[in-house]
Amino acid sequence: MKTVLITGGAGFIGSHLCDLFLSKNYKVICLDNLITGRLENIRHLKSNKCFKFIKYDISRPIHFDGKIDMILDFASPASPVDYLKYPIQTLKVGSLGTHNCLGLAKVKKARFLLASTSEIYGDPLIHPQEEGYWGNVNPIGIRSVYDEAKRFSEAITMAYHRVHGVNTKIVRIFNTYGPRMKLNDGRVVPNFIAQALKNKPLTIYGDGSQTRSFCFVTDLIDGIYRCAHSGLNDPVNLGNPEEFTILEFAELIIQLTHSKSRLEFKALPKDDPKKRKPNIARAKKELKWLPEISVREGLKATIDYFKKISSE
Ligand code: UDP
Repeated sequence: MKTVLITGGAGFIGSHLCDLFLSKNYKVICLDNLITGRLENIRHLKSNKCFKFIKYDISRPIHFDGKIDMILDFASPASPVDYLKYPIQTLKVGSLGTHNCLGLAKVKKARFLLASTSEIYGDPLIHPQEEGYWGNVNPIGIRSVYDEAKRFSEAITMAYHRVHGVNTKIVRIFNTYGPRMKLNDGRVVPNFIAQALKNKPLTIYGDGSQTRSFCFVTDLIDGIYRCAHSGLNDPVNLGNPEEFTILEFAELIIQLTHSKSRLEFKALPKDDPKKRKPNIARAKKELKWLPEISVREGLKATIDYFKKISSE
């Protein structure tokens, strides 16, 4: 039986990865310091003998007895609201945390997969974004705590690959949504759904002309699983290329929730990227991966989930 260590395993994406790897007969060790991750996300795994949770901050050195075949590094606040609340922790987990994981991967001779992000492209000057684009990031802007941490984590991952021969992978994750997102995490999907379900105004930042492309979480984790088992070492974009303006997206959520909400325009946060859409040609070619869940279908499942948790 193979063992995978998942950092940030109690988070939104990390917890779905715990489920997926358990279903593929892996033993899963989940590390999380729970600053943004939540025990509810992994409660159903408590009695599973192949699953172990350890509350731990990976920005501190990691010592682990026993074999590890693979490390998936998913520990980091990822919502702009969260990383602005925890700027230093975000910088530390993307730098010291990733360094510690790479050191562990090196001694355990484990594969290593880094959760990177479309944020490394910053406010992109090319559209859609392909992996060869170097990005347009404000190095001292408010979002830099996340963007530059992830750019550093990509750099150190490639250095461990080149210098120590660690079998590393980098997935650049574009906006992803689905069950287990926190209703109050501040990102656009939970914000709009929570507001629509209460018939409260949907808060549009700026004029709503900025775009995003939304991937359902089951599609994303399938891409991550494929990448983890592939021969790819270069970064790969994972996301759904269907692009919406935030205004169109708000209207879609109002329609799907049958809400009476109106729109309320608020100030655009600083350095908010104007456009975002992945070019997924590399994932298609190298991983034979394509998102399968339409945005309508994924949003319906997410709305049902938020309805359920808000009635509990
Ligand atoms: N946004 C918005 N209203 C909200 C939350 C977010 O208009 O209540 C916008 C935000 O300004 C950004 C987009 O929606 O342009 C996506 O924001 P999110 O926080 O989900 O993630 P980002 O893609 O910026 O990392």
